[in-house]
Amino acid sequence: MNSRIRSLERQIDKVKRDLMRLDGLRMGSLSEQYNVCGTPGCRCKSSPPEKHGPYHQLSYTRKGKSTTRFIRKPNLSMVKRQLRNYARLRSLVDQWVDLAVELSDLQMAEAKQLAAKQRKRA
Ligand SMILES: [Zn+2]
Repeated sequence: MNSRIRSLERQIDKVKRDLMRLDGLRMGSLSEQYNVCGTPGCRCKSSPPEKHGPYHQLSYTRKGKSTTRFIRKPNLSMVKRQLRNYARLRSLVDQWVDLAVELSDLQMAEAKQLAAKQRKRA
């Protein structure tokens, strides 16, 4: 068998193993927000104002629907890890598709060569 085919198959197996190792996932982008409250005389209305925050906000669009939600500080590092995992998922799927397309092309070329050889023998 073509050694490039074997190499592609090995690389695809590695991508699959890496995918299996991903744990929590979340999509979206994080931003920081500083807010002003409604309490009269609060420090957020002094001059210069000391606004409340930062509040961490996660925004994402899924199936055409945009969502924004606040992420409490104790959950921030978990959510950041989940966002990194999601980026890794997308990157691994991209790699898999590229490898799989090349593999498919080579397999078809090999099948064509084999058919030509068999026609010659017949
Ligand atoms: Zn305030």
